[in-house]
Amino acid sequence: MSDRILVTSALPYVNGIKHLGNLAGSILPADVYARFQRLRGRDVLFVCGTDEHGTPAELAAQEAGLPVAEYCALQHAAQADIYRRLHISFDHFGRSSSPANHALTQQLFLRLVANGFIEERVLRQLWSRVDNRFLPDRYVVGSCPHCGDTAARGDQCDNCGNLLDPAELIAPRSALSGSTALETRETRHLFLLQSKLTDQLRRWLDTKTDWDPLVLSLARGLLDQGLRDRCITRDLAWGVPVPKPGWDGKVFYVWFDAPIAYVALTQEWAAAAPGRDWRDWWRTGSGTRLVQFLGKDNVAFHALTFPATILGSGADIRLVDRIKGFSWLTWGEGKFSTSRARGIFLDAALDELPSDWWRWWLTANAPEASDTRFTPALFATGCNGDLADGLGNLTRRVLSFVATRFDCRVPEQGNPGEAEARLALEADAIITACAEHFEAIRLRRACEGLRALWSLGDRYFAAEAPWATIGTDRDRAACTVRTATNLLRLAAVAASPVLPHTCERIISALGGATSRSWPTSAAEWLRAPGGSPCRVPDLLFPRLPPEWASDVASRYGS
Ligand SMILES: [Zn+2]
Repeated sequence: MSDRILVTSALPYVNGIKHLGNLAGSILPADVYARFQRLRGRDVLFVCGTDEHGTPAELAAQEAGLPVAEYCALQHAAQADIYRRLHISFDHFGRSSSPANHALTQQLFLRLVANGFIEERVLRQLWSRVDNRFLPDRYVVGSCPHCGDTAARGDQCDNCGNLLDPAELIAPRSALSGSTALETRETRHLFLLQSKLTDQLRRWLDTKTDWDPLVLSLARGLLDQGLRDRCITRDLAWGVPVPKPGWDGKVFYVWFDAPIAYVALTQEWAAAAPGRDWRDWWRTGSGTRLVQFLGKDNVAFHALTFPATILGSGADIRLVDRIKGFSWLTWGEGKFSTSRARGIFLDAALDELPSDWWRWWLTANAPEASDTRFTPALFATGCNGDLADGLGNLTRRVLSFVATRFDCRVPEQGNPGEAEARLALEADAIITACAEHFEAIRLRRACEGLRALWSLGDRYFAAEAPWATIGTDRDRAACTVRTATNLLRLAAVAASPVLPHTCERIISALGGATSRSWPTSAAEWLRAPGGSPCRVPDLLFPRLPPEWASDVASRYGS
């Protein structure tokens, strides 16, 4: 494993606050992984930003009555604030519309042209007489040819999920004016000749033996079907202009410039302080490991299109080392939907409960191998069991005892015996397995390890019963309490990638200095001397009552 790890999360689209599903399927797991690797002492850079080009932003800006640049700036700020409140530890959260991304996108494009991977083709596209313009992607709406839904958009039907081409829509009309006076006209566009890179991409993909089957099967499936050349331009004003004489009024398709933004975001991060060089993270010989987190709908772009862009350009930019793809979080039996405001959105989630509740449930139930069904009832049961009865109860139980029986100071007397030796062995096994799962990005399994650690601490404390031994053997009780306190400290550090805010509260209640390194030897941590002052923190996780789930379900359209 490289000591330098570059972590990226799929760029959230700029318009609107995202829902829990968006968080669960890329940003949160990326943050948990980045935090774990920092604990391991690795040099981590975690970059992300809003994806700002394309027709949805233009249309939403028009609806809001704002210039699109101004609209995007406001939406970016709102999203950045939400991620701060969710304790997402981005090193840089920027924007795909930045000057750095414009420059780099144009530069890579010109290299692709020089290397013969760009071809001009003439397409027939819908033209609106009333609007006096072409209607790409979402600028045209109509009936879905698959399910008949009348609100299908030129790029996709939200009802059945099928990707569409504007020409496929039945009874198309302009999303701008509603006009049905549409005709098809010829327009020139540029294509990325992915087909010419198929063999190279296949050879590269064959080396990715540690990727999840979900990602590999999607990517190989697309290669087996024969990789289609991709149109990378649009007749739009908002986007990265095509740097070619005679191509005024055309910009790159949002999916061409969005992945390039990962590199541009790193350039921006590097430019913000002296001594940083983006090449240290992106050069092929830099020894960095690039790990990208994304939903399964983005696999084609990250596993094929972006690598094709890099390979075709011949630029010294590294290809992804590991893609971690996620399935969907479903809202009950249906889908979370931004356009239909169905499900809990991140601002609402934070109004209901602090961030760690959401971080825990969504990580412990990450949609890794298959879809995860979210319901308020499942959420409440999971949080009550794991957080209120697990970590919360352990913290309160141990620290209350120190407070009342040892005057708020971790006792120093007493020597560890057999029970402590057994505890250390078990804790070591759990911590080792937990680290392996985090390293391999098996987040559900890593959370199982954390849960096992909390339960181990609780069982040890119950079995050693210091409230019984304190009357007859105060040294024995002291040793139990100190060891349990040390286990709590270890558990807090190990859980901090998932529960950063809560774990800081526990560590602060424990007083004294605490290492912020991953506990490689549980035995060592458990033997730490006492003497430091501690206190009982305010209740970490109150139990959610049964009416909480039904109330939330009714308010968010279950
Ligand atoms: Zn449909």
